[in-house]
Amino acid sequence: RAPSRHDVEGVMMRWMPPLVIDGEVHACPQCSTYRDWIVFNMNDDSVWLRCPAGHQVLEPRLDAAWFNRNCGPVDHWHPTLEDGLRHLGH
Ligand SMILES: [Zn+2]
Repeated sequence: RAPSRHDVEGVMMRWMPPLVIDGEVHACPQCSTYRDWIVFNMNDDSVWLRCPAGHQVLEPRLDAAWFNRNCGPVDHWHPTLEDGLRHLGH
């Protein structure tokens, strides 16, 4: 059967350009980087951002609806977040 998103902890995508939230470019609160994010949409519909340095924070202004609007078709499924991060180049 086709995998469903509930088989995994969540879905993720790589976001290379600056990420604009509420009209402002979002920067990592810890290292101030503003591009090359991994964006996670977890099964509880929360959205997390991970910067290239591995700082991972919940972003409450983003949600599953935002993720689905901005995410292309999910073409890869990963058993673990670590496997997915490797696939995405982090
Ligand atoms: Zn950071």
